[in-house]
Amino acid sequence: DQGLQKTKENFFTKITKAIAGKSTVDEEVLDQLEEALIGADVGLDTTIEIIKRIEDRVARDKYVNTSELNSILQDEIRAMLVVSPENSYKDFSTPAGKKPYVILVVGVNGVGKTTTIGKLAYNFTKAGKNVLLGAADTFRAAAVDQLTIWSDRTGVPIVKQPMGSDPGAVAFDTVQSGVARGSDVIIIDTAGRLHNKIYLMEELGKIKRVVQKVIPDAPHEVLLVLDGSTGQNAVEQAKQFTAATDVTALAITKLDGTAKGGVVLAIANQFKIPVKFIGVGEKMEDLLIFDKHEFVDSLFK
Ligand code: GDP
Repeated sequence: DQGLQKTKENFFTKITKAIAGKSTVDEEVLDQLEEALIGADVGLDTTIEIIKRIEDRVARDKYVNTSELNSILQDEIRAMLVVSPENSYKDFSTPAGKKPYVILVVGVNGVGKTTTIGKLAYNFTKAGKNVLLGAADTFRAAAVDQLTIWSDRTGVPIVKQPMGSDPGAVAFDTVQSGVARGSDVIIIDTAGRLHNKIYLMEELGKIKRVVQKVIPDAPHEVLLVLDGSTGQNAVEQAKQFTAATDVTALAITKLDGTAKGGVVLAIANQFKIPVKFIGVGEKMEDLLIFDKHEFVDSLFK
């Protein structure tokens, strides 16, 4: 069910309340729907957009039955998830001719970046790929240690250097080693320090440049990891990271256990960057390839 049980419960309790005893979608229903969407962390802008579309529909059709509201909402939500029509990671495949396929992983500490990398390593390995990890978050000893634990757990090799080493040097070593070993997928962890945007830009820019010395069209993906349970904070982080570097894909974690799953919609709609993975637990099996149809279905069924 894409791990959205709590979001669904929260959202639907409110929608059910909004339409209780009503046959048509009127101002009052729309007000309550707006509240339900905001309560599910869909975000103000995206909520206003959804309400506006439904209002237009009501204006056009004059009379909209409340029982039709669910299907209208589903249509509108699907329309907002148009980015990424087909998820490029179907079955953890990688594009032909891109070997090694290099994924640079960015995000603030604590969002589940290391766990997501571990889950990706597990899934790509399961799909028959040779994976290599690069520990380019050299600022925290714990980051390298944690990634090493995931390397042991998944049996995926890791390239690392002592804490405090130059992240660019680690990234360079990693891609060089990946080419030499014939790796299919290289996943590079980076430090997620947001307090200094210029620094972040420079650091990520430098990592990219050294990676490109070895593989000119790499990184093939810059994956931003966001913690879905932080709701609008995740939106704020997306804003900052997209300003600092070209983010090409999103992974949204911790959607299990939160009622704020609507944030997926807010982020997809606002940044027009495809959500490619969602995290629904702490174990390595708990990463899903995001599928917008399944996502919408799991919210409504
Ligand atoms: P990092 O600092 O960004 O590398 O974060 P970690 O990967 O160390 O994760 C921080 C905490 O979040 C850990 O306790 C993880 O087990 C937990 N975590 C990561 N992803 C998920 C998820 O999808 N669901 C849940 N429930 N917990 C998660």
